[in-house]
Amino acid sequence: MINITKIEKTYPFLKTIANAAEQLQTEIYIVGGFVRDLLLEREKKEIDFLVIGDGISFAEKLSEKIGGEKISVFRNFGTAHFRYNYFDLEFVGARKESYDKSSRKPVVTNGTFKDDISRRDFTINTLALSLNKKNYGELIDTFGGLADLEQKLLRTPLHPEETFNDDPLRIMRAFRFAAQLNFNVSDEIKSAARAMAERLKIVSQERITDEFLKILASPKPSIGLKLLQETEVMKVIFPEFANLQGVDQRQDFHHKDVFFHTCKVVDNISPNTDNVWLRFAALVHDIAKPQTKRFVENVGWTFHGHEDLGARIMKGIFTRLKLPFHQLEYIRKLVRLHLRPIALAKEEVTDSAVRRFIVEAGEDLHDLITLCRADITSKNMEKVSEYLANYDRVMNRVLEVEEKDKLRAFQSPVRGEEIMQLCNLKPSKKVGEIKTAIENAILDGIIPNTYEDALSYLYKIKDK
Ligand code: ATP
Ligand code: MG
Repeated sequence: MINITKIEKTYPFLKTIANAAEQLQTEIYIVGGFVRDLLLEREKKEIDFLVIGDGISFAEKLSEKIGGEKISVFRNFGTAHFRYNYFDLEFVGARKESYDKSSRKPVVTNGTFKDDISRRDFTINTLALSLNKKNYGELIDTFGGLADLEQKLLRTPLHPEETFNDDPLRIMRAFRFAAQLNFNVSDEIKSAARAMAERLKIVSQERITDEFLKILASPKPSIGLKLLQETEVMKVIFPEFANLQGVDQRQDFHHKDVFFHTCKVVDNISPNTDNVWLRFAALVHDIAKPQTKRFVENVGWTFHGHEDLGARIMKGIFTRLKLPFHQLEYIRKLVRLHLRPIALAKEEVTDSAVRRFIVEAGEDLHDLITLCRADITSKNMEKVSEYLANYDRVMNRVLEVEEKDKLRAFQSPVRGEEIMQLCNLKPSKKVGEIKTAIENAILDGIIPNTYEDALSYLYKIKDK
């Protein structure tokens, strides 16, 4: 439960805000994610306040009273926002929304506490913490959000078809919260999502993509990906990805289901990187397998060229999903090269093949290897360690070749000109010999690789 005295220790300014609200005679509650995450013991730097009355004018007065940083006002949304004590404080006046079937835009009017709480997306987001004198610190649970938190369950306060019809983005939000919090979604949410998936077409692509990337950024993205797939929402928002599911069987050959394989790869890579674009690369690395799938008699299934085709179709996907174009080249590179390291694991690979790989992968070489390691999804532990050892070998080869190349470019710290001066020599074979002697002394570890050591070594050998 909520212990307000304990909370005030971590957030002492809540009392300040409560006192100010009391003076301004305004009813105010903390709502939404902050209350939810408080109960889940998750850190949060944003706090949403629900003000009964005019949220903007309250925020303006409050900010002046307590000395908040520059206030931003969004009249269209009826919200105001300012920073205070390193927290983002967001204020909204209680509202009532009525939706007209003929238009997507709700009619928004001033509302009561109950009106406002009822138009929220999930019961776990309807919990409110009172900052008012009459019930200071009380947790107000209108829709059984607390029980749902305990059961780790997402439910909508109203019938989900109604909730989703009003704002179809809430379908995405349900699956996003499920992935972020490791929660289940109610069966009613699943069937409403399936029934209303097409409605997502009226939502802006930016909002959809934003939620999709939050799923990908969560600790176990497959939770959200599988919900999207199971409800066929994926078909609407990312058909190429939805298309990865399905296995063909012919003769004795079947191939791994690419959708479930990819889910595993994304889950595998997630503990190793917070870079959502590396996770995105994992998500799309096999995206062109369906188009390149061929059955070869007595050999089985092949997917020749899926890495090149995958890289080629990435631009279209970026355009449609409105992904940031400055990440396109990175994703294309990882998709295109994701099979290369395994080809380099063979014993007889030449230095120049390794060198070409180093140049092509460039600064993304480590990310590529991270992807390749995550791509191992065999259940056979022996195979897994064998494959991992292969990648270790490739990385050792990379280091070896890099080292050799560094040595090839290696030069004595004391240059020819200086040797000629100090030893009183004309340009001649001798100068080269002395220089090589210094270089060998360094390579053999006789002297350290510094100018001073090379110089004193030169004095020592110059008369020999
Ligand atoms: P997070 O900040 O981690 O994304 P949050 O729950 O704070 O989670 P916000 O998007 O900041 O989510 O929204 C704050 C609150 O506003 C939510 O908890 C929810 O009650 C409500 N809300 C936000 N978006 C919607 C929506 N599309 N439909 C209904 N209610 C919403
Ligand atoms: Mg929030």
